This record gives sequence, structure tokens and C-alpha cells, in this order.
Amino acid sequence: MNKTFLQPRLVKIGGSGITKSLSIGGTSSVSIQTMWKDGIDNIVDDDKALHETLKQINDLQALGCDIIRFAVPDTKSAKALVKIAQNTSMPLVADIHFDYRLALECLKGNVAKIRINPGNIGSRDKVEAVVNGCREKGTAIRIGVNTGSLPKDLAEKVENGIISRTEALAETAARECEVFEELKFDQYVVSMKASSVEETVLSNEAFASKYNIPLHIGVTEAGPLITGVVKSTLAFSKLLNEGIGSTIRVSLSSSPENEVITGREILHECGLRKGGVTIISCPRCGRLGFDVHSFLDRWQNRLLAMDKDITVAVMGCIVNGPGEGKHADLGIAGAGDKAIIFKKGKIIHTINAKDADIIFEQELNSL
Ligand code: SF4
Repeated sequence: MNKTFLQPRLVKIGGSGITKSLSIGGTSSVSIQTMWKDGIDNIVDDDKALHETLKQINDLQALGCDIIRFAVPDTKSAKALVKIAQNTSMPLVADIHFDYRLALECLKGNVAKIRINPGNIGSRDKVEAVVNGCREKGTAIRIGVNTGSLPKDLAEKVENGIISRTEALAETAARECEVFEELKFDQYVVSMKASSVEETVLSNEAFASKYNIPLHIGVTEAGPLITGVVKSTLAFSKLLNEGIGSTIRVSLSSSPENEVITGREILHECGLRKGGVTIISCPRCGRLGFDVHSFLDRWQNRLLAMDKDITVAVMGCIVNGPGEGKHADLGIAGAGDKAIIFKKGKIIHTINAKDADIIFEQELNSL
């Protein structure tokens, strides 16, 4: 039986100060998020740390990142986030748990979105204070629920086998939404995260069949790089192909760069993000004349950050090199103790491997 899902309504984020304005939901393209991996409290009085943070934000932006979330566990971090937001066009999200006053502190600056888990914020008046602050400031909210923080009654029902964890997750999100609807606040996004692919898919499908609220999708605690990439790819491709998911976050025990690259590759393969640099490369084998792995370690992120719509081939040997990379705008392959550089399958240089990076860069810049 074909399932039907509702078209999500539009939520606007950013647009104040120098922050880029972005839409989530409606017919907007699916945005990519990541989360900052370190504490930021030192930024308040350390300009060098601020500068380094802004540089990494720019690098993530170049890789295709649209939104970055920061943990805000204390007032110093809230002040730091406000300071970062003053200095970047990247829409930033404050991730708040337990203390609603931290959300209010963040709202003093141009933070684009507040993520709260109303279940751990406490009484309704605290949630209301955050909603009213966001309404006044034009800031969006994400209601983030996950299987680890279900309300007591639903957690008990799950334990007693009365409902599934998936149903409990969707029900928890629906309850939180009711509060927001009663407060007549519609600029919010919902996420329901589980650490299994099946639960993530089922809970988001259940929600999207009933509500037109934009969904932030993600598999939580997805694991180290390979495990996390596999889980996220399976869950996201299923949901995105059904039209579910207005913004995505790949969660990895790895760098934010890897999260963004994984997100963009998933969107690319689902046909939801076009353009950019496509890298094709061989796995390498005993025929190699050129170390594909170390070349890609040096070049992958640089290539993916380029504002070019091209295909680049990196092949270990000439046996399959120019042939398999025939359609590539630029390619490099090993050839005995030399390397060749080719464009659209035509060899344009035969060089010593030690000169590979320099010649490759020259040819790349000429595209
Ligand atoms: S291109 Fe050459 S080195 Fe790479 S996997 Fe194929 S045969 Fe092996």
C-alpha cells in the first residue's frame, strides 16, 4: 500500500544581522546541518579561538553546510554563540537542555534557531517563555525528541509492550507540537531521533502522515564513521525518496566535515542537490603506479569545497585510468613510475609522481 505524506509548511530561519536567510520545508531544497564538536565557552575572551572557529565555519560552508548547531550548556557558551553569530553569515542553532534561561540569553543575539527538548526544559511556563522570546525575535525553534528522553508514561507503555518505541517517539513529538500550536507559534521544526534505521524511518513516516510540520531527520548516536554513514544513508535515502525530511544531520563520531560531506553525497545521490565537484576514484590494487589514497587524503576536502561543477578522476594505474575516467573533466593516474594527467580521456601530461600535486593544481585552476 502506498503511504501518503503531507507537504511540510515553511519555516524561515536566519535573516537578521549578517545571518543568511534560509527556508526549511515547503518546496525549499533540503538543507545540511552539522554540530560543533567542541565547547565554545573560551571564545568569549579569546579572539584567536573566535578567529579559528570562524575559519572552520567558512570551510564547512564551502563544503555545502547550511546550518551549524552548537551545544550551549552554560551562560558563557550562550554569550560565545552570540559573539560567533555576530561574525558569520552561517545560520547558527543553540542546543539547549534543562535551562530555558540559556535560550533567552542566546536570543539576545542573531541565533537563527533554538533547539529544545521541551521534555527536559521543565514546566510549561518555561517553554512558553522560550516560545515568546523566539516569536518576538523572529527566531525558529526545533523540537528535538529522541528515544532516550521519552515522557514517563510513554516510556512505561513501551516497557510493558503496550506501544512500540516508534509510536512513543511520534506521540512524544505530537504532544510537544500541541503546546506550540496552542501558543499559536508555527515557526518550528521537529526531529524524532532513534539510533536504529528502522525506528528512525517508522517514526518519521508516522509523523509525516499526520502533520505538515517540517522534519529535521537524523539517526542519533549513529556510531563511528563507517557505521554512521551506512545507517544515515539507509534511513535518509528511504525517507528523502518519500519526500520526508526538510533538513538533515548526519551524526558521526567523526569530524563535522565528514558529516557535511556524507550529507551532501546522500542528497546528491538522491537527486536533491546538483552541481559541485564529483570525485571518482579507484580502490587501488597491486597494479598501482600512483597512491590514490594519499592523494585523496590531501585533495578530497579541497576539491569538494570548490565552486566548480566538474568530475575529477583519481586512478591508481593506466590500465583502467583514462578509460574509466574518460568522462572526467580532469584526471590523474599512475603510469609505471610516472603519473599522467588527462582531460576527457586525453593525456595532456606525463610527469614524475612527485610533481603530481603541482601540475594537477595548475590544470584544476584552468578549468
Ligand atoms: S585503476 Fe589500476 S590500480 Fe586502480 S583498482 Fe583499477 S587496476 Fe587497480
